[in-house]
Amino acid sequence: MKCAICRNGATESGHTTVVLENDRTTLVFKNVPAEICNNCGEEYISSDTNKALLNHARAELSRGITLEMLSYAV
Ligand SMILES: [Zn+2]
Repeated sequence: MKCAICRNGATESGHTTVVLENDRTTLVFKNVPAEICNNCGEEYISSDTNKALLNHARAELSRGITLEMLSYAV
């Protein structure tokens, strides 16, 4: 698709790292599937992927950890 930020580039499938944090916990998700602009580098994460990340994050938060590196897996 065409990039909505720079309106110049096109997005390509790739992977990115997403960091989610609140007051006491930081979660780092590696290998998250994303569409990445080949011009400005803007990352687009699908709503399904986003939902899966938030569900995963909620489960991790309930364990009371402070920092965790996770690999995104469907
Ligand atoms: Zn762009």
